[in-house]
Amino acid sequence: MSTVPLTEPALREAEVLRLRADFPILQTGVNGHPLIYLDSGATSQRPLAVLDAERSFASTLNAAVHRGAHTLASEATIAFEDARTALAEFIGADEDEVVWTSNATEAVNLVAYSLSNASAGRGGPEADRLRLGPGDEIVTTEMEHHANLIPWQELAARTGATLHVIPLDDHGALRLDAAAELIGPRTRLVAVTHVSNVLGVINPVESLVAAAHEVGALVLLDACQSAPHLPLDVKALGVDFAVLSGHKMLGPTGIGALYGRRELLEVMPPFLTGGSMITTVTTTEAEYLPPPQRFEAGTQKVSQAVALAAAVRYLQEVGMPRIAAHEAELGARLVEGLSAIDGVRVLGGDIDLPRVGLASFDVAGIHSHDVGQFLDDTGIAVRVGHHCAQPLHRRLGVTSSTRASTYLYTTRDEVDAVIDGVARCIDFFRRA
Ligand code: PLP
Repeated sequence: MSTVPLTEPALREAEVLRLRADFPILQTGVNGHPLIYLDSGATSQRPLAVLDAERSFASTLNAAVHRGAHTLASEATIAFEDARTALAEFIGADEDEVVWTSNATEAVNLVAYSLSNASAGRGGPEADRLRLGPGDEIVTTEMEHHANLIPWQELAARTGATLHVIPLDDHGALRLDAAAELIGPRTRLVAVTHVSNVLGVINPVESLVAAAHEVGALVLLDACQSAPHLPLDVKALGVDFAVLSGHKMLGPTGIGALYGRRELLEVMPPFLTGGSMITTVTTTEAEYLPPPQRFEAGTQKVSQAVALAAAVRYLQEVGMPRIAAHEAELGARLVEGLSAIDGVRVLGGDIDLPRVGLASFDVAGIHSHDVGQFLDDTGIAVRVGHHCAQPLHRRLGVTSSTRASTYLYTTRDEVDAVIDGVARCIDFFRRA
């Protein structure tokens, strides 16, 4: 089953304009110009439904969950668990397979530290199959966000396992030939991003999942840049873990999630320990709750979870296939328009894969910070730098790039404005 069904019609411009009215920040201006927000890949903007959900929870239901016996506490707990169910449905999981985290970074670290604890014998014999040691191999890729790279470097260092990295070709695409060689009988885990946060391409993760499972390895999918923009079904994809961040999908900051297959979560030792994740505690030892609570130590991010559920409902109402189609159009427009400018190189622009509405580019002779500053002066917000993907930039021979990224509320005119802005920027610096 394809995970990227682009058969639905894209959003019509009038629909996009109607949606924009739901986002207060899109009605504001920057530096004397209307805001053109093309940095949704870093963090997305929030509709009133999400802002209201967080405020309404705080105004009427605020209480710590899974603790108090009073009415407010039990209503807050119901709202918190309903939010979990909403997110689980959104990604095709069961609710007890969704663990709340602060963000995707914490979710990756949760898995890495849990595997590390299992490797140290914590978790007992049931966790034996999760143990890593010398001779075992972890495989990731050269295009990962640092959040899906450094935790594996650290896990390898803690356990003595070896980290292998699937290289990129000269265009920036994953070298699947090399992947086929690197994923072998010693591979225990493959960690790969669904959509590159620099190139915007949708990786053919189905083939990596098949290769990993053929040798009995687990797969962790970084869904940070896919869950907000594409229909995502973790079960159909067959991944063992998936991570995402709420703030990239119309939700608030401070909330993210880990999807883990139930059989795995059930045997994994916890990463964080403390209150709310135990059944009994003595002064010398503790017994832990089943998942997902085993992985949710401490007071939880309740209003953020409730607001993320509102975001998920908003996205579902618009329709993920239509959002994906809208952003595929914007992405193609971005790549085409930017590539046509003399002196602009779109990173991965010639990779023949489906893409989301995100493109990073290098402008010959002009530092990305200068490009970003020039665009900002005209109200256009883009991201500059290495986008937490230094190995990818190094492989493509640049130290930084400028990134424009869209969402459901982005119009074609905004995409054209950034293309025009880059052309004017080049003109400006050439004349200077
Ligand atoms: N993975 C990818 C592909 C991302 O784009 C990001 C954020 O930019 C992350 C992981 C980390 O997300 P967070 O900083 O919300 O944990």
